[in-house]
Amino acid sequence: MNQDNIFQKIINKKIKSELIYQDQYVTAFKDLFPKAPIHILVVPNILITSLDEINQKNKKILMYMYYAAIKITRMVKINISGYRLIMNCNPDSGQEIQHIHLHILGGQYLGPILSKI
Ligand code: 5GP
Repeated sequence: MNQDNIFQKIINKKIKSELIYQDQYVTAFKDLFPKAPIHILVVPNILITSLDEINQKNKKILMYMYYAAIKITRMVKINISGYRLIMNCNPDSGQEIQHIHLHILGGQYLGPILSKI
């Protein structure tokens, strides 16, 4: 049986989320465990489990995700103060949900992207 992941349930409104934006390609909602004052996730409406599944046929979804994210930063007014867009891929990145998602983080100074190794 094909079990929907948590983001598919949010997209299909089977479970609640704080929806920010939806169009024919992507859905955006607030992260349940925010890591910054503004923390929004942009996900494709179709299931792509990992960035490593991006190919010639589905690559345009990345453009739709990034363009939606940029529009959302204007909607929530962090476009001038600044923000960070992050996508995790596979275990070393700590990707938790197997449905690609773009994190929009902002609302305060975010510090360095990573600490030094
Ligand atoms: P990852 O670590 O996979 O890049 O990011 C997954 C994100 O999904 C995390 O920031 C986590 O807080 C968020 N998250 C996990 N479960 C839920 C949920 O049920 N609802 C929402 N809105 N966000 C979730």
